Amino acid sequence: MTDYDVIVVGAGPVGSTYAYHMANKGYDVAIFDMKNRIGEPLQCAGIVSTNINLTEQVPEEIIYNKVKGAKIYSPNKTLLHVKKDETVAYVLDRVYYDKHLFQRALDAGVTPYLSSRVLDVDLENTKIKTVDNTYTSRIIAVASGPVSSTSKKMNPELKDETFTAIQYTVSTKKQDMENVILEVHNELLPGFLWKIPLTDTKQRLGLFTDGAYKDADNILLDAMNDDDEIIEKHTGLIPKYNKDKRIVYNNTILIGDSASQIKPTTGGGLIVGSNMARLASEKSDLMLKENDNKYLLDYENEYHKRYDHEFKAQQNVQGIIRELSDDDFNYMFEQLQEHNVDRIISEYGDMDTQTPLLKQLLKRGIMFKLLPKIGVRRLKNIWKSL
Ligand SMILES: Cc1cc2nc3c(=O)[nH]c(=O)nc-3n(C[C@H](O)[C@H](O)[C@H](O)COP(=O)(O)OP(=O)(O)OC[C@H]3O[C@@H](n4cnc5c(N)ncnc54)[C@H](O)[C@@H]3O)c2cc1C
Repeated sequence: MTDYDVIVVGAGPVGSTYAYHMANKGYDVAIFDMKNRIGEPLQCAGIVSTNINLTEQVPEEIIYNKVKGAKIYSPNKTLLHVKKDETVAYVLDRVYYDKHLFQRALDAGVTPYLSSRVLDVDLENTKIKTVDNTYTSRIIAVASGPVSSTSKKMNPELKDETFTAIQYTVSTKKQDMENVILEVHNELLPGFLWKIPLTDTKQRLGLFTDGAYKDADNILLDAMNDDDEIIEKHTGLIPKYNKDKRIVYNNTILIGDSASQIKPTTGGGLIVGSNMARLASEKSDLMLKENDNKYLLDYENEYHKRYDHEFKAQQNVQGIIRELSDDDFNYMFEQLQEHNVDRIISEYGDMDTQTPLLKQLLKRGIMFKLLPKIGVRRLKNIWKSL
């Protein structure tokens, strides 16, 4: 007899979503989080494409803003403006989104343990240890974010790799509410800088990079207008996708950031995490019904089937971008502008999947216009990965 059918470690968006699905299927579920205030502090830009509607119903009151496009600037401020007539992304109040998902899990019957840091996950005996107790279950789902000791235990040979992320909430002068602003610089590569409008005069200004926090902080300070004021400042980590990462061991699974389930080019993890929480819950249900752990391995295999191709292509693009100088970016943006690529991106671009757009750019020969900067060998690599 175990204490619970399912134990979830981490009540972030992914852990709460998985816990909710499992409780809805009739299981006795417990969720543990080391925090006592779910969702805080904010560590997210909170932008999700409207594809979120395919898996989640986001309450209107949690949406700060709806955006239709992006203004993307090269270092010399050459602009690519990609946009659609309809909303393409929501800017969420991420703190309340996490609280909403957590409350939904509690309403479905999940037992919460707040201020309860899980000190160890015993992979052999499906058991967790907190400061004052141990708890057993038939499945443990670890959704404890980008730094996970269970992930390390499952993958002793892999180096846990993360990007540095830093974000300010700033009060700013009246701004365009329909577009996010993205800026690329050699110093940030392979990341970028974002300005996301929350209200007329409030924005999230942030970046992710392979560089150090101190440099990132200076870049953000430089990106502020003279009259802007910092309201809040947050730092965080974004895991790097790794196709070799093991995410199932006996009856323990990793989901969300702990599994590095994150889009390489944008660092977005909310939609992938939500999709994988659902998939993991379906496979966990089968595992519990049939008492056969092969269903958990199906979760791992189906995850790879669904995302490896897309994420590999995104990593290839990142590999190319990483080597470009500011002059290269300026040249590329000018070429892209000249060939009206903003229109093609507006039509084929998608925040979540970039392969359809890459195919179009190759098909129309636009990649070849960028050849001096990209190089034939690199171009062949992209081609092969599509
Ligand atoms: C600056 C920044 C901006 C981002 N912007 C976006 C964006 O705009 N759009 C997007 O889609 N994604 C974005 N992301 C990524 C997104 O925030 C993550 O992918 C998402 O939070 C993953 O959710 P999760 O539930 O897996 O992990 P988390 O949200 O990290 O939640 C993990 C939870 O586990 C708890 N926990 C950790 N260790 C333990 C332990 N030992 N015991 C008990 N509890 C524990 C933590 O307290 C936390 O509540 C951003 C990330 C950063 C850092």
